[in-house]
Amino acid sequence: MNENEFIKEIRVLQQIADRAMAGEEVYCPKCGELLIINKLGSGKHPSVFCPNNDFKVMIDYKGNNVIENLGLDKK
Ligand SMILES: [Zn+2]
Repeated sequence: MNENEFIKEIRVLQQIADRAMAGEEVYCPKCGELLIINKLGSGKHPSVFCPNNDFKVMIDYKGNNVIENLGLDKK
């Protein structure tokens, strides 16, 4: 996986996380199962994950978004 593919992948994950947090039903890109959402204030780290354990996105609300936290926007 080259850097562009990696950034593309991160943006897809970001989009899934954003949609889930906006209250949309989002399905696992791997198996198509409805993703489970731990919302902010649920007592768990905010995340979106597949009940089949093949997909997971952790969400960091301290920074603005995941992409920024990884420093990918600065390139
Ligand atoms: Zn899945």
